[in-house]
Amino acid sequence: MSHIILFDIDGTLVLTGGAGGRAMHRAFRDVFNIEDAFDGIPMPGRTDLSIIRDALKQAGLVHEDGPITRLRDRYFHHLAEALEERHPRKVIMPGVRELLDALHRRDDVFLALLTGNFARSAQLKLEYFDLWRYFRCGAFADDAEDRNQLLPIALERAAIHGAPGLSPERVIVVGDTPRDVACAAASGARAVAVATGPADVATLRACGADVVFEDLTDTDRFLALLG
Ligand SMILES: [Mg+2]
Repeated sequence: MSHIILFDIDGTLVLTGGAGGRAMHRAFRDVFNIEDAFDGIPMPGRTDLSIIRDALKQAGLVHEDGPITRLRDRYFHHLAEALEERHPRKVIMPGVRELLDALHRRDDVFLALLTGNFARSAQLKLEYFDLWRYFRCGAFADDAEDRNQLLPIALERAAIHGAPGLSPERVIVVGDTPRDVACAAASGARAVAVATGPADVATLRACGADVVFEDLTDTDRFLALLG
């Protein structure tokens, strides 16, 4: 095993056509009878838990875990439905399936997730696109509110699933926002940024990504990173 590769989901592997955002809004309406609770709250690159806490604060609601658990359960319910709704921007990102097939075939690469989604919503989103099966495990919003804390958790989980301990430069984080890059940097991992989300190539370069791709269509160039 020479590398552990940790993939972000939204904007990196897939776009859900806004299904995640719609499901969050509907869950908040169910639990608190408040519409548009997430308006003005930034979402890309953040954990769902920190987004929910911001929405609760914005609505003047106290931070208690009871409502968050109820909200999360309603979110999963609505997400499963919202993923089935027609939307032109509900897609697998270009080159992703080919890249995952190529990485999955190698026995020196361990594939896992590092995402701000909850584990259940990550599974719902990726199963919808038949991508869940590529990943052995992951770190999720269930594990920490701060994305930068997720990488060590992802590595602990990878170890439980048979990955060896590797030096940080053999851990690659693939994501679409400066927050993904910061998360890699916080643990000394390599950041591969892909400009298929809200940030363009220049922005991702400027925030210190080790490598920036326009998209993930050049499988050979990605594999060359593995030496
Ligand atoms: Mg993302």
